[in-house]
Amino acid sequence: MTALKNGAQDFCAKKGRRAPLAFVFITGGVLSSVGKGMLVASLGALLKARGLRVALRKLDPYLNVNPGLMSPSQHGEVYVTADGEETDLDLGHYERFAGVKTSALDYVTTGKIYQQILRDERSGAFDGATVQVVPHVTNAIKRFLQAETEAQDVVIAEIGGTVGDIEGLPFLEAIRQLRYESNVSVCCVHVGWVPYVKSAGESKTKPFQHSVKELQRAGIHPDLLMVRSEQKLEERLLQKISNFCGVPLEHVVPAEDQSDLYRLPLAYHEAGLDKAVLRVLNHLPATEDTSDSLEMWKRLSDFKRKDMPQICVGIVGKYSHLPDAYKSLIESIKHAAFAESVDVKIAWVNPEEVTEKNVATYSHLDGIIAPGGFGLRGAHGTMCMIRFAQENGIPFLGICLGMQLALIAIMQTLEGFKTAHSLEFKKTDKPLVVPLTSEKAPSGHAFKSAMRLGEQEVCLQEGSLAAQLYKQNRVLERHRHRYMFNMDFKKEALSLGFVFSGVSSCGNIAEVIELKNHPFFVCVQFHPEFQSTPLKAHPLFCAFVRHTLALKKKTS
Ligand code: GLN
Repeated sequence: MTALKNGAQDFCAKKGRRAPLAFVFITGGVLSSVGKGMLVASLGALLKARGLRVALRKLDPYLNVNPGLMSPSQHGEVYVTADGEETDLDLGHYERFAGVKTSALDYVTTGKIYQQILRDERSGAFDGATVQVVPHVTNAIKRFLQAETEAQDVVIAEIGGTVGDIEGLPFLEAIRQLRYESNVSVCCVHVGWVPYVKSAGESKTKPFQHSVKELQRAGIHPDLLMVRSEQKLEERLLQKISNFCGVPLEHVVPAEDQSDLYRLPLAYHEAGLDKAVLRVLNHLPATEDTSDSLEMWKRLSDFKRKDMPQICVGIVGKYSHLPDAYKSLIESIKHAAFAESVDVKIAWVNPEEVTEKNVATYSHLDGIIAPGGFGLRGAHGTMCMIRFAQENGIPFLGICLGMQLALIAIMQTLEGFKTAHSLEFKKTDKPLVVPLTSEKAPSGHAFKSAMRLGEQEVCLQEGSLAAQLYKQNRVLERHRHRYMFNMDFKKEALSLGFVFSGVSSCGNIAEVIELKNHPFFVCVQFHPEFQSTPLKAHPLFCAFVRHTLALKKKTS
């Protein structure tokens, strides 16, 4: 964000810049988790399918600067953009559905806005003015919404939280102002929930009506209503919502639950969402027919067949009770399943329940994944699972912490390495995993808060399995870690059959390791799950699924 003295109009008027053609704002009511993120992602996909250039943005009203330090049990996965911003998991949906590449420009929180404003205030950038929520915070929000949108036709922006939240008010005020003061067209979509009340035997629209009233109190009259419900709603209820909320019936779009996320773009298209949005923004250069582009969503949501081979993959993560913490991972597995025509079942393994004694009870798993994570909790059980996969030739994929634990678990079996561990967790005479900021850190690398974030180049060894899978020797992958394998112990790792098939471009950081004499044992220091899309499943997940299936067929 630049100097805060400029208002939104100044911004638009800057030489050589034009405001985007249109904004679609998404607000939510009645309850959280109502599906705003999926609506943005699906609408992005639908408008893109109509030939429009879209940017998808999220504004979160909480005070954290970003979710980087928030617990996954509260916030779900932290999604990392290519340029290294730690963001909300909804941005993952945006990338996967609409095929856009998000960046730091697409995610903002109240905390981030205040951080910048307070920095500017201290540096005297306000020329003695009293700094206030209106106009300074609201102007900053408007600037965020309009930043670098020259190449876009539409910006779809989601306001996090629920209307009526105190902390969301500046965001609503900013979009209210934007609608009236700039030369862009705006479509406000409000999405709310209509609950089915069992005792009454019917669905109730009152909470929805109240949430629209709440939005109107903030000065925003919605152009379009998305009515979420568990089951299909009767037309008379949609009519009722239309009457009471003052929105024409053709702009009241029903959106009942779908069995799979990938059904949403098609379901929303069939319910008339993109048509209705384009009617409100009537001058957009959208194409008429989307049937070709929608074909993929059809295939993806119907790809499972009864006669399809099935595998069961165990994910060993301490947040196994909270799948949102592994959102991108789950989706990447789905993409690979689709690409390889395999029905992949996921079995959640709580590492805190795994011990050396009971690990054999997991022998029904066809493949095992150890995902990324922070903290010691669950590390022991994860290492038991990793050794179990290694000893029994079960296909294994280790991601970030999963790779570090794999090296520790297997190297601890070496003579004199019983106490070997990661300095993230323990003081040890055999530090196999060390901080990036120690003397081992590659010189000249600036790590944001000691965390290595975002897209970095990985150099793959010619002839290695990794190079074969990627079909390239240099790839860009997204990172989020503070620790790395201590290359002082490389010789010992090699003696155990490890292959260092990928390193960072500076050569100091182990990025990909493989295990010889094993059907499939691949670990990566980065997060391949952030780049997988339904159209382009990630080669590592595809290979993992392929090898797991091949081995299952061979042994059964
Ligand atoms: N905690 C480990 C590190 O910082 C792994 C991080 C992760 O899995 N994202 O290196």
